Amino acid sequence: MDVEKKDFIYEGKAKRMFTTENPELIVVEYKDSFTAFNGMKKETMEGKGELNNKICSKLFEYLASKDIESHFVRQLDNVHQLVKRVKIIPLEVIVRNITTGSLCKRIGVKEGIVLSRPLIEFSYKDDELGDPLIIEDYAVQFGWATEEEITKIKDISFRVNKTLKEFFAKRGVTLVDFKLEFGKDSAGKIILADEVSPDTCRFWDSSTGDHLDKDRFRKDLGTVLDAYREIWKRISE
Ligand code: 5GP
Repeated sequence: MDVEKKDFIYEGKAKRMFTTENPELIVVEYKDSFTAFNGMKKETMEGKGELNNKICSKLFEYLASKDIESHFVRQLDNVHQLVKRVKIIPLEVIVRNITTGSLCKRIGVKEGIVLSRPLIEFSYKDDELGDPLIIEDYAVQFGWATEEEITKIKDISFRVNKTLKEFFAKRGVTLVDFKLEFGKDSAGKIILADEVSPDTCRFWDSSTGDHLDKDRFRKDLGTVLDAYREIWKRISE
């Protein structure tokens, strides 16, 4: 790795962050840990960090090639990425193309309905509260983002959806839904942050319907890392 990690900043469920010589840049280290249900279920699997780092680096590079800016600067080695320092906006933005997961649990709609247009939801990023679903106006009223920023976030989220949906469709994978996080860079610009990976997206094999994402871990379906490897194989060919 040609960039030195300086001070430890923060450890999340799947990643660790370190400062670098440059105050605007941060090193992200992808851990081998799986967590679900707000950290209640945990497991370590060797090689998971490397797979997520490779998949996420590839996806951020692809999004950049389609003019969708993120905090990603470059992949440093198997488990490290160099990213821009941003101030994270405490929102989880969820885009859905097909009904499943918490949406079905919450309102009782059937699983697997293909939505006529993508659905967007916001959650307040707070582990203690379990990332509750919120309405847009909460974000504005409580100062998490301005109306303009919300409009920008929605626009980027729909562009990410369109871009990745087409990218994965060509590779025999259906992009069912995903979660994004955004940050503000030193100039105050809103950019995509965190990660885009099988931890944060639902991927279904377009012909078999097999789940190729973290739902295999959440639902104890087994062969979790094989699914992540399959995603890497399809996007790296
Ligand atoms: P759901 O709300 O149905 O549980 O999740 C919708 C989508 O957002 C899924 O692709 C899921 O992986 C992602 N997602 C939602 N919340 C989180 C979270 O706290 N962490 C991660 N890694 N993904 C999430």
